[in-house]
Amino acid sequence: MTLSALNPDWKWQLNHRITSLDQLKKQFNLSKEEEAHFPKNQTLPFAITPYYATLLHHCAIRKTVVPSTIETIKTKGERADPLGEEAHRVTPHLIHTYPDKILFLVTSFCSTYCRYCTRARITGKECTPSDYVASIEYIQTHPEIRDVLISGGDPLTLSDAQLDTLLRQLRTIPHIRTIRMGSKIPAVLPMRITPNLCSLLRRHRIWLSLHFIHPAELTPQSRTACQMLSDSGIGLVSQTVLLKGINDTTDTLTDLFYGLLESNVKPYYLLQCDPVFGSSHFRTSVKKGIHLIQSLHGRISGLAIPQYVIDAPGGGGKIPILSEKQITQKGDHLLLKNYEGKTYRYPLLPQKNSVH
Ligand SMILES: *Cc1c(COP(=O)(O)O)cnc(C)c1O
Repeated sequence: MTLSALNPDWKWQLNHRITSLDQLKKQFNLSKEEEAHFPKNQTLPFAITPYYATLLHHCAIRKTVVPSTIETIKTKGERADPLGEEAHRVTPHLIHTYPDKILFLVTSFCSTYCRYCTRARITGKECTPSDYVASIEYIQTHPEIRDVLISGGDPLTLSDAQLDTLLRQLRTIPHIRTIRMGSKIPAVLPMRITPNLCSLLRRHRIWLSLHFIHPAELTPQSRTACQMLSDSGIGLVSQTVLLKGINDTTDTLTDLFYGLLESNVKPYYLLQCDPVFGSSHFRTSVKKGIHLIQSLHGRISGLAIPQYVIDAPGGGGKIPILSEKQITQKGDHLLLKNYEGKTYRYPLLPQKNSVH
C-alpha cells in the first residue's frame, strides 16, 4: 500500500481511480487466473478508488470489484433490468414503483463499481443530464408521494453545491416527509464525508442508507466517516447484498452487522442478489438466505439483524422473506407474493451450468 492511497482529498481519490488492468497490476499482484479472466470490454465500467484498492488483499472484496469474464455469461432467468424499473420510469430520473415513495436516480456515476450491480444497464454509462426540472415537477404534482429515495449511481459523488440545490428544491415540496439517500461512499470513499457535507445533510434532515457487504470494509476511515455522520444527527441504516462466497456465512454476517451497529448504523436490509445478467456466480439460493437469517435470530442482538428481502423480479417491490413456507417452487422458478398479493417469479439457480 502506498501512502497516497489514503490521500484525504476526495477529489484526488476520484481523479486517481484505477480503471484499467495495467493500473491495477501496478497496485496489486493478481493471480494468473484473475489476469487471464479480466474481460476485454465490460458492460459495467471498471473503477476502484485508490482507498478501496487497499482492501483488495481481501479475496472477498476483490471478487466484488475486479471484473471477470464470468460476468459475461448470461444464465436462464437473468435480465438486463431485473426489477422492471424501466416500466416504472415516469421521467428521465424517476422510478415510481410503490404508491407513496419514489426512487430518484440523480447520477449514473459511482466512484467504485460493484460487479453485481442491479443497474449495470445504466450505471457508469453516459453522463447523466443534470436537469431535474421534469422530475421535481412530477414530485410536486403527485401529493401521494411522501418519501423520496435518492440513488443512482452514487448521489454522494455530486458536489455539495449540487446536492444543496437539489435538496432545497425537494424540501420546498410540502407533502414530502422523508428524504433518503442510498450510497456506498462511506465504504469506498470515506474522505467524501466532510464536516461541510455532514452539516448539509443534517440541515435537510436526510436519512442515509449505506451499502456495506463485508466486515473488512469497516476500516478506521469508514468507521470515522459513519461516526461523523452519526454525530451530526444523521440517521444511518445499511443495505447488504447477500453474495456467494463473499458474505454468505453466519460468522461473516454477524461480524458485519455488529460492526455496523458499533458505528451507529442499523442493519436494514439483507437483499437477495438480483438476477441481473452475469450474476449467477454471485447468487446464493434463497433457501440458504433463509437459513442464514434464521441462524441469526436469537443468537445475536435483534438490533443487529436486518430484514431479509427479495426485490421481486419484474417490479413487484421488496418482499420480506421470513420462512420457507412463503415460497413455492414451480418448475425453474420460485413463486413469491408481494404486498399487493400479486405473484412474482424469482429464477432458481441452474442445477448444472446451463448457459443461454
Ligand atoms: C427499494 C426501493 C424503494 C424503497 O423501499 P423501502 O422498502 O421503503 O426501503 C423505493 N422505490 C424503489 C423503486 C425501490 O427499489
